[in-house]
Amino acid sequence: MRKSTELRGAGKTTPPRRGVASSETAREINRDILLHTIHLHQPVSRADLARLTGLQPSTVSVITSQLIEEGWVLPGTLGRLPRGRRPTFVTLNDKHVTLAIDLRPENANLAVVDINGKILSRETVTYSAQSASKAEVRKTIQNIAKSARLLRAGLSDRIFQGVGVSVSGRVDQRTHRLLFSPNVPWTQIDLHSELQKLLDSPIEMENAANACLLAERWFGNFGEISNVIAVSVSEGIGTGLMLDGRLVRGRDDMAGEFGHMPLEESGPVCGCGNVGCWETFASNRAGLRYYQEQVQESRLSSFQELLNLAKEGDVRALRSIDKMMAYLARGLAMLTAGLAPEMILIVGDCTALWQRVCPQLESQLIAKSFTSRTPRVVAAMDGDAARLRGAAALVLHKVLFRQAAFGQTENGSAMPPYPRIAAAAV
Ligand SMILES: [Zn+2]
Repeated sequence: MRKSTELRGAGKTTPPRRGVASSETAREINRDILLHTIHLHQPVSRADLARLTGLQPSTVSVITSQLIEEGWVLPGTLGRLPRGRRPTFVTLNDKHVTLAIDLRPENANLAVVDINGKILSRETVTYSAQSASKAEVRKTIQNIAKSARLLRAGLSDRIFQGVGVSVSGRVDQRTHRLLFSPNVPWTQIDLHSELQKLLDSPIEMENAANACLLAERWFGNFGEISNVIAVSVSEGIGTGLMLDGRLVRGRDDMAGEFGHMPLEESGPVCGCGNVGCWETFASNRAGLRYYQEQVQESRLSSFQELLNLAKEGDVRALRSIDKMMAYLARGLAMLTAGLAPEMILIVGDCTALWQRVCPQLESQLIAKSFTSRTPRVVAAMDGDAARLRGAAALVLHKVLFRQAAFGQTENGSAMPPYPRIAAAAV
């Protein structure tokens, strides 16, 4: 007989019923919860896993054995207790790795990332693809794939689980087509199938800001926060929205293009064809433009050079970054008023000046807020690598989790589970 199992919350208080799941579904949810908890607390004993998840020790034991059998988890070192039997600590098996590709308008960052988010090797491929023809774009992709294959060959003792690609723009999760990407040329080709063919591997492709949200959930530590906006600031601005614990996708997976929210009546022409978009005032390109407006003979060609000048204390460089941040804060205030996030996660090169940038953003959010509760503004773990870890997380979530796969919108599934949501029994 197929029995039903009630999902219960762990801890002292019992939250409202979350529904009734079949025993198979409950087992899969428990498996997801255990994987996530092992990741957060490893090395960890089975007894601690039971305590942390609220699951029965027998359930923990059965599922952990399964995970060891499947090769995801390793029975690790023996722990020490004041008395009694020494427990075995389990860890995730870091033999499992992902090939991560972060496609940007002028370069691609590639890396091999292990199951714990550790970057084992990396490579950058530069190109000038802005006004490239279809044949040139195809050639660029071939070069990127060649570097990717070399990275993969350099770590042949690892178990590759797939390729994750983060891109600016939005990706239709059903067709894998790049729908909107005004600053990059990839829309000329079928990027997903080209890469899949060249790398002979399944490809998970997603908007960079969405991927970073997922990376922070898996590799970082959101705790129990379930309302987060990730703002990716690079050549343009993209946002990923997690509201009430769910990734917001909108029609055609297009939600989050706040970079093209009209901020001013006039201004530079945006990559989308309009004028006055937020990203034309607050992206890296805008920062560089503010500097060039002050320094006619400027030879700066990249935002990184501007950052270097700012770090050296160059007044005009600092003024340019400050202006960019003032515009960034203006857009963040709008997002905050409309979406009520608990946390805003900034991803981008500008976080290299976080000591200066963060107080500016926070003070302006406070100044523009109509409530006493403003969101925390935090930098993604380590700027550049965040997008790579995001790309890696896309694959990990696909292969690791059974009931909380990222991007599953048909059944309205939530983001990967919090350990506190635990099912009662196997
Ligand atoms: Zn625009």
